[in-house]
Amino acid sequence: MTLASNAAMKHPMFAALLLLTAAPAYSQSAPPPPPQVPNYVAALREEALADNYAWEITEGLTTEVGQRMAGTEAEARARNWAVAKLKSMGFSNVRVELFDMPTWTRGPESAEILAPFPQKLVVAALGNSGSTPPGGITGEVVGFEDMAALDAAPDEAVRGKIVFVSHGMARTQDGSSYGAFIGPRARGPSVASRKGALAIVIRSIGTDHHRNPHTGGQRFADGARPIPAGALSLPDAEQLQRILKRGKPVTMRLTLVSHTGQGQSGNVIAEVPGRDPSLPPILVSGHLDSWDLGTGAIDDATGVAIAAAAAKRIMDVGRPLRTIRIVWFGAEEMGLFGGFDYRAKHGKEPHYALAESDFGVGRIWKVDSKLGKERETEARMLQAALAPLGIVPGSLDLADGSDIGPMLGDGAPGVGLSQDGTQYFDLHHTPDDTLDKVDLDDLRQNVAAWTAMIAVLSGGIEPDPKRRNRR
Ligand SMILES: [Zn+2]
Repeated sequence: MTLASNAAMKHPMFAALLLLTAAPAYSQSAPPPPPQVPNYVAALREEALADNYAWEITEGLTTEVGQRMAGTEAEARARNWAVAKLKSMGFSNVRVELFDMPTWTRGPESAEILAPFPQKLVVAALGNSGSTPPGGITGEVVGFEDMAALDAAPDEAVRGKIVFVSHGMARTQDGSSYGAFIGPRARGPSVASRKGALAIVIRSIGTDHHRNPHTGGQRFADGARPIPAGALSLPDAEQLQRILKRGKPVTMRLTLVSHTGQGQSGNVIAEVPGRDPSLPPILVSGHLDSWDLGTGAIDDATGVAIAAAAAKRIMDVGRPLRTIRIVWFGAEEMGLFGGFDYRAKHGKEPHYALAESDFGVGRIWKVDSKLGKERETEARMLQAALAPLGIVPGSLDLADGSDIGPMLGDGAPGVGLSQDGTQYFDLHHTPDDTLDKVDLDDLRQNVAAWTAMIAVLSGGIEPDPKRRNRR
């Protein structure tokens, strides 16, 4: 069956060229009525609630590749997998843009209190941690409640010791606590190093009380010698706090072996060509790399899956006016290397909108956008198209994303579909980030929202009699 007949059967609106309806003229006093969402947008949204493409990608990537640490052979296998998958789905212009990067990989790691109460603790090295010798290092632990306390500490209090920074990260729907509490991970190792510390362990930046440490990126500031830097699981961090409160000297043996080198990462790009190739593309994205402790299911296999599944659903029914460009960024976790490489190579080209899914797979609850004043009707159409999924309108002057952040910062237009992050930091960067945590209904709600978003931005979708429906 051809696509045209199939689409026309399913969506009567497809019989005609499908374009966004023009905005009605408003009177000065009355609030504008919500824009009328075209039938084909609503139909695409509702059909996407039964999507299987995103699950197939998430399941395939986490099963056939597993963890995808940036710059390693595993990430290279993920790129090969991605190219084959995107081609098999029927996307055009599937390609890899490679770039060089410094690599860091994890070796054996353990932590043990030797005195006053000998016991093992669960630890994971942070990205770019310095390496201990294979037998570890031993030192006295000095504890700080938060970064402010470590910042204020005189060098003598820290020199030659293993610094421990605790803190209390709150659970928030929008993930704002991550930014508020990331200091011990982002700055702690550098500050401790500059004060002469032997090593640092922090309370994991996370909200669960499983005995799982949360790894994560950090980079030693200029002039700070790399020291071993690890994260304790929350139960272990609280245990260490209680031990320190007893007031006796605490000795720890810490083994965090790691390796550094040079490697290659890359962005995998695929497209749904638009009817008018001269128009700027809509960029939809996630990141292909992951941390090494789990299989990177919610961070960020689901993200790349949601973006590609939504684009595929548009392609299944016809040709958008504007090109849809899928970017599966490389090496996000180790420092947005893929995002910066894409900006270096394409940042000067206009983009119609940038969007990235990189906050797990919680249901989308809010839509923000920053499309510019002259595109306010389109932004309101986007809000109206998403409302039936339980998505509330957010700001018309806000968009964010990890890899797309640098280009958004340059002023590129963007859309932010906010996922519920209440549980995200229970799994984030832990061994628990595995496929079984992905809720299929939530994943489908995400795909439905992304499909509707792309449909609204697409400029209209026209049946393509040449293309066979691959569903
Ligand atoms: Zn991520």
